[in-house]
Amino acid sequence: YLTLLEEHGVTLDEQQMAAATAIEGPLLVLSGAGSGKTRVLTVRTAYMITVRKVDPKTIMLVTFTAKAAKEMKERLLSYPGISASAVNQLVSGTFHSVFYKILIFHEPEKWQRNLLIKWNWEKEKIVKNAGRDYGLDEKEFAYDSALQQIGLWKNSLLFPEDIKPIDDWEIACAYLYKKYEEYKQKTMMYDFDDMLVGCYSLLKSRSDLLEKYKRRFQYFLVDEFQDINKVQYELIKMLSSGSNNLCVVGDDDQAIYSFRGSDPSFILHFEKDYPAVKIVKLTENYRSAHEIVATANRIIKGNQSRMDKAMRAQHNFSEPAVLFFPYDEELEATMIVTDIQEKVALGARPSDFAILYRTHSMSRAIFERLAASSLPFVIDQDAESFYERRIVRGMLAFLRLSMQPQDPRAAAAILSPLFLKQNVLQEMKAQTILRDCDFIDTFSFVKTGLAFQERKLKALPAKIRSLRNVKPIIALEIVEKDLGYQDFVKKRGTEGNIEKGSDDIRDLKVAAKQFETIGEFLDHADHMIGMNKEVKQLSKHFTDAIQLTTIHRSKGLEYKTVYVLSAVEGSIPHDFALDSYRKGDVVPLEEERRLMYVAATRASLGLYFSIPQTRRGKKAFPSRFLKFY
Ligand code: ATP
Ligand code: MG
Repeated sequence: YLTLLEEHGVTLDEQQMAAATAIEGPLLVLSGAGSGKTRVLTVRTAYMITVRKVDPKTIMLVTFTAKAAKEMKERLLSYPGISASAVNQLVSGTFHSVFYKILIFHEPEKWQRNLLIKWNWEKEKIVKNAGRDYGLDEKEFAYDSALQQIGLWKNSLLFPEDIKPIDDWEIACAYLYKKYEEYKQKTMMYDFDDMLVGCYSLLKSRSDLLEKYKRRFQYFLVDEFQDINKVQYELIKMLSSGSNNLCVVGDDDQAIYSFRGSDPSFILHFEKDYPAVKIVKLTENYRSAHEIVATANRIIKGNQSRMDKAMRAQHNFSEPAVLFFPYDEELEATMIVTDIQEKVALGARPSDFAILYRTHSMSRAIFERLAASSLPFVIDQDAESFYERRIVRGMLAFLRLSMQPQDPRAAAAILSPLFLKQNVLQEMKAQTILRDCDFIDTFSFVKTGLAFQERKLKALPAKIRSLRNVKPIIALEIVEKDLGYQDFVKKRGTEGNIEKGSDDIRDLKVAAKQFETIGEFLDHADHMIGMNKEVKQLSKHFTDAIQLTTIHRSKGLEYKTVYVLSAVEGSIPHDFALDSYRKGDVVPLEEERRLMYVAATRASLGLYFSIPQTRRGKKAFPSRFLKFY
C-alpha cells in the first residue's frame, strides 16, 4: 500500500514509515515544524484502514482546529483505497467536537446548544454580577484576566473546592469561580470548558460507559500534542488505557497556548505514564526552503528551555528570508499588497499567500488595502472590524455627532465617555421636544449636580459642532484631550485595558491621517464595517484566496509565501511579555519566541518580515528575535 501511496505522490522517509506503521502500543513523534508529523498521522490512518483492516469507527483522530480536521479528511479522501464512508466513520475533530458528541448522546437534555455560553462578554457579565456583591470595583478589577484564571483552573481539573488561593487576587478569582459555577448550575447553562470537564466527569462516574468507550475506541491519534491541557490529557489517557494504542505527535517549540492551560510538560508525563512508549524523532524538514529552515532554527535557538532538535532542510533551493522596512503601518500594508499583486500577475495564486499577525487588531491597514484591491482574501469568522472595537466606536461617535447633531444613537454612545448615566438620555430626549433643538444641544441642560461638570457640558455642543470643520486627525486629538476621552479610557480600564484602549486610540489616529474630512473618514469606517461582514461571508466559500489570520491560528498550516506583520518590539514580543521579562520572568518571552518560530515555519518558499520604522506614531525597533540579521 505504501508503494501505491508513493506512486500517488505521498512518499515517506524511513523514520516516518516506522511511525506510520507501528500501530500497536504507545508512540510519541517529537520533531520540528514541517517534518511531516501531520502527514504521518494521515498516512497512519489510511494504512490502518486499508492494510490492517481496522474499522474506522474505532479510530479517534484529534486535531487542534476544525480547519485542520477538515484538511486531514480531504487528504485522506484523496488517497487510494479510502472511501468517503470510511472517512465519515472516523471519529475525528477537535477535542471539543469529539467529546461533545459523546456528551450529547448520553445527556441530550443537559447539553442543548442553546444553553451554551459562547462569548467572553457573556461570561464577563456573570462574574461582574458576582463581583459586585463581593465588593470588587467594576472598572478597576481585571475581569478578563480573572476569567482566564478560572479557565486555567478548570482545564487543569481544579474545581472551586480544590483552590488554595495564595494571594488577594487568587482569593477574588476563587470566589468568582465558585459563583460562576453556581450560576451555571442554577441556570443549567454551560461553556466550552464544561464540555471537556463534563465528559471527564461522566466517564469517571459511569464505569459502564467508560468500559463501553474503551472497547469502542481502539486507536488514538493526537496532533499538536504540545498544546494539550490536563483535562484533555486525562480524557485520552482514560479512554486509551484499554487498548494502549495511542500515537501522539508534537513539537515543544510550537507550544503557544499556555494561556489556555496547555503544558508541554505532558510530553514528559507521557514517557512516565506509558513506559513502553516508542519515541520517533523526525529530522528532515520537507516544507521549507533551506534558508527559511535556517532562519527558523536561529529564531528558536534563543530559547533556554527546550529539547534540542536539529532540522535539516530537504529543499535545497534557497530563497533567503526577507526583511523590509516600511515607514509605518499604512506603507507596510501597501508594500505587501503591491508585492502580492506583482506575484499574482506573474502566475502565483492568491491562496499561496498568508499574512500573519500577533493580534487581530493589527490587521486594520492590511484589511483596507486588500479590500481596495481586486485580490480575493479571507479572514477569521470571529474577526471583528477595527471600527467596531469599543474604544474606536466611542471615539467615532463624537465625530458622528458633529456631523449629525440630531442623532440620538451617537449621543447615547458618548454618555459614558462623559461620565453621564444612561438615564440622562430620557431627560435629553424630553428636552429636544420641549425646546425644539438638536439632540446635541440638550447636553447644555443636563443637570448632574456637579457645577464643574455642568459647566463643561454647557460648552460641549459648540465644541462638538466645531469638530466638523477640522481634519479627522485634529478632531480625534480634541476628542481625546479636550473632551475627556483619554480620562475615560484611563478611568474605565484596569491596567491591561488602559494599554489596549490607548493602543486603539493610537491606531485610529494612524487611520485618520489618510482623510481630509470627517465625512470621508466616517464613510470609510462604515464601508469597512460592511466589508468586514461581507468578507466573512465570502470567507466561507472562497477556495483560492489570501489568508489573513493570527499566528496562533496558522498553526499546522503551510503557505508558499508568508508575510509577518510588524515584527517589532512590543508586537512580537508583545508588550506584556516584555513587562514580565523586565520583572524577571522569562517564561512569557519564550512563548513569544515560539510564536515567531511558528510564524516563520509556515512558509515554504518565501518568508517576509515587515519591520515598520514607526508604529502607532512612535519609533519602532526590530524584534529581538530577529537580532541575528
Ligand atoms: P507542523 O509542525 O508545522 O505541524 P508537520 O510536522 O505536521 O508540521 P506536515 O505538515 O505533515 O509537517 O508536512 C510538511 C510538508 O512536508 C507537507 O507539505 C507534507 O506534505 C510534506 N512532506 C512530509 N513528509 C514528506 C516526505 N517524506 N516527502 C515529501 N514531502 C513530505
Ligand atoms: Mg502538523
